[in-house]
Amino acid sequence: MEFIDLRSDTVTKPTPEMREAMAKAEVGDDVFGDDPTVNRLQEMAADMMGKEAGLFVPSGTMGNLAGILSHCQRGDEVILGKKNHTFLFEAGGISVLGGVHSHQLDNQPDGSLLLSDIEAAIRPDDPHDPITRLICLENTHNRCGGTVQTPEYIRQVADFAHARGLKVHLDGARLFNAAAALNVSAKELAGPVDSVTFCLSKGLCAPVGSVLCGDREFIKRANRMRKMLGGGMRQAGVLAAAGIVALEKMTKRLSEDHARARNLAEGLSENRNIILDAGTPATNMIFFNLAPGVKLSTSQIEEKMKTKGILVHASGERRFRLVTHYWIDDKAVDKTVAVFADVLQ
Ligand SMILES: *Cc1c(COP(=O)(O)O)cnc(C)c1O
Repeated sequence: MEFIDLRSDTVTKPTPEMREAMAKAEVGDDVFGDDPTVNRLQEMAADMMGKEAGLFVPSGTMGNLAGILSHCQRGDEVILGKKNHTFLFEAGGISVLGGVHSHQLDNQPDGSLLLSDIEAAIRPDDPHDPITRLICLENTHNRCGGTVQTPEYIRQVADFAHARGLKVHLDGARLFNAAAALNVSAKELAGPVDSVTFCLSKGLCAPVGSVLCGDREFIKRANRMRKMLGGGMRQAGVLAAAGIVALEKMTKRLSEDHARARNLAEGLSENRNIILDAGTPATNMIFFNLAPGVKLSTSQIEEKMKTKGILVHASGERRFRLVTHYWIDDKAVDKTVAVFADVLQ
């Protein structure tokens, strides 16, 4: 059976055009800097982010880790949100592998951090304290609902940080979704920060990879970190070729996913057993809770939906996150609404 897979946009398979580009890609040993396709992807990515240089990495997790370790020494502290992916879902890598201490702040409902909270978190120059070095933001904010951070907010945090000698890293796994939703360029969102990671492998449909961007000196350090973490790849142009198609073509169509997410949410809003989050969807993610009357458990619902050809994934107790992407068309949206009506009646 061909499933309608709403568990995540990470399930996207490469498009036929990507497969073709991968088959034809010119390659070389990228650890020697010899892969022309990787080099081209890195230059394109840097240009789109308004940065001097880019580094192709196997995952967003490695992009954030190599980025943070390139900003921080052991014993330094990074200020980030309690609901940020780097804090919740990256296996504690910054602490385990980098000796970087995390200072966690409450995220506002839209995923942002309050400047007053950041200010209060900055450490004094005192031997009792770790050294505040970095602030991490996330855009779109995954756990907070796929919410967007505006260019104005990002500029404000960056100016605030730079005035205090701090750096800013942006986890922009879905930065192009934020750009599409705000109708701004990725450059406007990433321009103010010192470094940014974005994923090619989510809504952009590439099979593997993320790009970390920053200034040349920073990327030189990050390249050593990538090697240390085991992320130095050889003929990676086969993967980068799909990434180039992702940047050229797929970044331009993300608003279609957002429109389908809105249609899906509208359809589900008619279901009295589904309580949508206020404001959902901000981008390509829909979050909802089950109404108190629903007797089925989330895993029973997952199972029933699956037998009807739809894959969904609970994101908490009595809570679901549905994600639209390239492989979800209008028919899939209609069928999902109908099957939910049937399963949750
Ligand atoms: C998916 C994701 C990552 C990590 O990317 P992987 O490629 O899965 O390692 C980082 N940050 C956010 C916000 C994400 O959604």
